[in-house]
Amino acid sequence: MSRYANTLTEAIMPYTPGEQPQDQQYVKLNTNESPFPPSEKAMEYAKENLRSLNLYPDPTAAELRSAVAMSCQSVREEVVLGNGSDELLYFAFKAFGSTRRPIVSADITYGCYPVFAAALGLPYEEVPLDEGFGICVDDYQDRHGVIVIANPNAPTGRALEMKEIDRLIASHPDDVIIVDEAYVDFGGTSVLPLTKKYDNLVVIQTFSKSRSMAGARLGFAVADRRLISDINKVRNSFNPYNINSMTMSLGLGTLKDRNYTYANCRTIEKNRKYTVEALTELGFKVLDSKANFIFATHPEIGGQELYVELKKRGVLVRHFDKERIRDYNRISIGTKEQMDALLEKLREILG
Ligand SMILES: *Cc1c(COP(=O)(O)O)cnc(C)c1O
Repeated sequence: MSRYANTLTEAIMPYTPGEQPQDQQYVKLNTNESPFPPSEKAMEYAKENLRSLNLYPDPTAAELRSAVAMSCQSVREEVVLGNGSDELLYFAFKAFGSTRRPIVSADITYGCYPVFAAALGLPYEEVPLDEGFGICVDDYQDRHGVIVIANPNAPTGRALEMKEIDRLIASHPDDVIIVDEAYVDFGGTSVLPLTKKYDNLVVIQTFSKSRSMAGARLGFAVADRRLISDINKVRNSFNPYNINSMTMSLGLGTLKDRNYTYANCRTIEKNRKYTVEALTELGFKVLDSKANFIFATHPEIGGQELYVELKKRGVLVRHFDKERIRDYNRISIGTKEQMDALLEKLREILG
């Protein structure tokens, strides 16, 4: 840090993304990316549009917003796009958080939430998950602010039912509820329909996981048009061109090729079931996951040690050195071949 950093910069504790080592080929099961390339049709479509890269992209992203809205049974005015959903989380915190309206989220959840709150100078409150690492809506009864729920939650993979989230929103009419649905396409239930019922709900989704576009950076938020207009105000004060034209056409093409996304999600679910069964047989305890990753612990080996042993053998998983979850590793679900490679190394390590 330089002596010129201001107090907000001093307070920032940057998020540590999962490692992306370039030194050797790993079986990469550490950042919840899709193991499948983007849709072939989408890539063709994006290629055709490369010719117009001399022009700035449409700052309103009208066409893509309409397409996203259509896929969510909503309208364009109820949608805003982000350079990844992380950017939208940041914008929403900035739009709705304040010293009197803290960011409220689970003690074990997505690591960007506290980081963004700190960067924005917003107070951050943690609500502990229950014993089984589930979110208990009743624990939020006396909490107020901008309540952020990752559903399914990360890194646990556990999902809340729509009626629980409905109950949470209904009991917090003066708060903003953000539901981060980064992993909802792998077997969870989206609360998008509730955006019609409540004017204080923001649903955020991403093209990074189920739609194979992590490298292209595209996320979207759906909410009552007044909330969207607030987020849009923040976006326009930062970068009206936050979605580049290559990403826009790739996104449009991906939405047109829904069967491809759907088939990939079903494959991931099948591979998840296969992996959970095999891990259980090896003595692991695995949390019930509705995401493209699982959270697992073994009684005979610590989480950190298992992570290290797997890395030595060319398999990357994610370990969080954090109270309550030190004994666990988060394992992304990849292709059947990748999962077999993981299982082979696990058998070797566990003898
Ligand atoms: C991956 C992830 C995101 C962000 O993804 P982007 O690539 O920025 O769209 C948001 N929330 C959770 C819980 C995630 O795991």
